[in-house]
Amino acid sequence: MTKSEALFKEAVTYIPGGVNSPVRAFGSIGSTPRFIKKADMVLIWDEDDQEYIDFIGSWGPMILGHNHPAVFDAVVDYAKRGLSYGAATKIEVEMAKLVCSMVPSIEMVRMVNSGTEAVMSAIRTARGYTRRDKIIKFTGCYHGHSDGLLVKAGSGVMTAGVPDSLGVPAGCTQDTLSAEYNNLDSVRMHFQRCPEEIAAVIVEPVAANMGTVLPEDGFLQGLRELCTKYGALLIFDEVITGFRLQADGAQGYFGVTPDLTTYGKIIGAGMPVGAYGGRREIMEVVSPCGGVYQAGTLSGNPVAMAAGIAQLSILKSHPDYYVKLNQKADRFFESIKEMLKERGLPYQVNHIASLGSIFFTDQKVRDYDSAKTSDTKAYADYCNYMIQHGIYLAPAQFEAMFISMAHLPDQLCHTLDLMQAYFERK
Ligand SMILES: *Cc1c(COP(=O)(O)O)cnc(C)c1O
Repeated sequence: MTKSEALFKEAVTYIPGGVNSPVRAFGSIGSTPRFIKKADMVLIWDEDDQEYIDFIGSWGPMILGHNHPAVFDAVVDYAKRGLSYGAATKIEVEMAKLVCSMVPSIEMVRMVNSGTEAVMSAIRTARGYTRRDKIIKFTGCYHGHSDGLLVKAGSGVMTAGVPDSLGVPAGCTQDTLSAEYNNLDSVRMHFQRCPEEIAAVIVEPVAANMGTVLPEDGFLQGLRELCTKYGALLIFDEVITGFRLQADGAQGYFGVTPDLTTYGKIIGAGMPVGAYGGRREIMEVVSPCGGVYQAGTLSGNPVAMAAGIAQLSILKSHPDYYVKLNQKADRFFESIKEMLKERGLPYQVNHIASLGSIFFTDQKVRDYDSAKTSDTKAYADYCNYMIQHGIYLAPAQFEAMFISMAHLPDQLCHTLDLMQAYFERK
């Protein structure tokens, strides 16, 4: 038994499923989790001293790689001053100014502790601002684990939300309307049915929680137009895309301006941080300025702010880093495409900037239904092979691969070689 296997045996006794977040479980690839003990740049090591090239990067935050010296120094420096005061601090003002300076649609921002919290609070804000209750979300988009958002597809787009999880009362999801990604008609139908009841449309501008699924031309613009027409707010959940596609995220990349934006992951550089922000008149409904209550004992924690500011400052001052990152990732994913094509394998490679996924299906993947046609057993076989050979991939088909600024060309070549070796055996 490896040390990871022994730890997992112990973990399942004390932690539900042995993990503190389900995506860390290896159940969907029929294996058990590697227990990680340290990381540096793009390498991670497990308790058995096996080394891996990391393509998860903590699910996004590590865009500069692990242990970037600027982030590390900022954390150590701030940790020396005490970990939390529960009082206003200068560093929170710095963070808010920095975010507003990087993203033009954001005039005010509130810090929270996770992406889940950011989305939950943004929705409450949208409802408070519009005085409406209903929201539209897309099947296959993930917005954290708050009650009202744990809804995938009803059987038809007109059905009211059905909870996806035990423990979520039907009442909590009755105002959640499901629509289909890349399908504006499915959104328009809801607006036509209840034109004055929809507070917001929330969307991942690039869906990255059903594998990577790109918005088709006109989709995001269409959402913008529908929201404006019906007086609803457009919320971009940029927990993954924010500060990743480019410094101003997906909204900059696609040139579509949302009313509210949510952040997580990269904004904390590996510390537990989330944020939501938008136009001043909207954000001013948030307590104690306005009547929408939202609070947090550890929100804006100084050590977490220090980490986030260090990372964002580097990203802000180096637009060239994004150019290099996106070119490098583009070449990488295009090479995979080429490799599959040469072998006559009909799999799909969806990618944009430093995010991408291989779907084990012969169908073009543009929404949840087409993503679901993937052969998850084939993914499991591929994924286990790669992990056994030192490439740390998400242990599930419906996740993205994250390329960081720290990935070296050699490491990407080595990864391609291993993929080639794997696909050659097929
Ligand atoms: C990860 C994620 C969340 C939830 O963030 P947590 O920090 O895990 O609560 C919300 N939205 C999107 C798009 C995400 O990828």
